[in-house]
Amino acid sequence: MVDVSNVCWSDALPPTGRHFPLLERVFLVRDAWHRQYGQRAPLTLVADNSLRRQLSAEDQERLRRLEQEVELHFAKTADPTLLSLAERRGLHVISRDQFTDLRRDFPWIASAPARFLGWRTEAGTVRLEPSGIRPVSAQVVSRALEGKDLKFHQRLDHRNPVHKRILGHHWRCEDAGCLKALIWPDRLHDWPLLDARGVAVCTGCKGAVRRLGPRTRPRSFVVADARTGDEYLRFPVGEGDALEVGRGELRYGINLASTEVDAPADVNLVSRRHLMLSVERTSGNPRVGVLDLGSVNGTVLERANSAPRRLDAGESVTLREKDRLVLAGAVTLRLSGQQHFSDEQQQLPRLGAAGGGRTRMFLPEDADTSGV
Ligand SMILES: [Zn+2]
Repeated sequence: MVDVSNVCWSDALPPTGRHFPLLERVFLVRDAWHRQYGQRAPLTLVADNSLRRQLSAEDQERLRRLEQEVELHFAKTADPTLLSLAERRGLHVISRDQFTDLRRDFPWIASAPARFLGWRTEAGTVRLEPSGIRPVSAQVVSRALEGKDLKFHQRLDHRNPVHKRILGHHWRCEDAGCLKALIWPDRLHDWPLLDARGVAVCTGCKGAVRRLGPRTRPRSFVVADARTGDEYLRFPVGEGDALEVGRGELRYGINLASTEVDAPADVNLVSRRHLMLSVERTSGNPRVGVLDLGSVNGTVLERANSAPRRLDAGESVTLREKDRLVLAGAVTLRLSGQQHFSDEQQQLPRLGAAGGGRTRMFLPEDADTSGV
């Protein structure tokens, strides 16, 4: 399988250093493939739709001829097509991409790095070699997915300083005739859009919006079935907030066994008030605290390079980015890599009578946060 757009755009292929899409590069890769894997090794090509427009008129014509000779698929975005075909047919993938944002949908990528081939040009000759697929943590995948989402829906790039300013503040629409301003008079609950001039505008009336104060960063937590690893619930905790996590109706908490989520059967081993999570303000990054509330079947902390350890009742620990908590052996809890949330996304899930309603609790600044 050849990731045609990735190949055409690669300035590591001749003419090296030239950042322009060239179809010739596909032929160079094809020749290298046949040299290294045999003349009869089949080759399937997948390209982004947009490539047709990006190529020169001459290359577009060559592409049409190529379509008659080989299996060539076009897709809005080639990657998912490429990866599903490669998975089904057990093929190599020729691409330099790490496919980070697709690791959740295609978990086989990380377990089959040898099937991913990149390229190197030496003395004008192209050689295929393992592209170096690296394992990525669930957080990195979340962040990549979030970045893609923001770009696609809001045209916001969290690495761009101007866009970062949008993501770091609250905004208000003050247009008297705007419906969004009417329902959200204090501040918009969705992100403003950037218009063609790069000005932040309301998604409702498309008028300029007023910048309010900086927004605090919530962190979100991911809950999964400990046995299968399947995620079944996500919830945010805002800076300065805390909430209990357990089973059944909690006044200030998240019900892991709500009938509105697809909880595993052994979730009933989780204590009613199992642990407390808090996101505390500090001078640097917010501290994420975990406190076991004396759960019957325990909370185990899994941390890289150390043995899993059961927390003592009442013990408070700081949760690190890649730590994982296992509650009663039934449910896992970890931090999501997501960092930017609109107010809409920040709302806690409504879990009906069980756990819904009054789910937020303010943690006083002077609360006892001693512990490791
Ligand atoms: Zn508006």
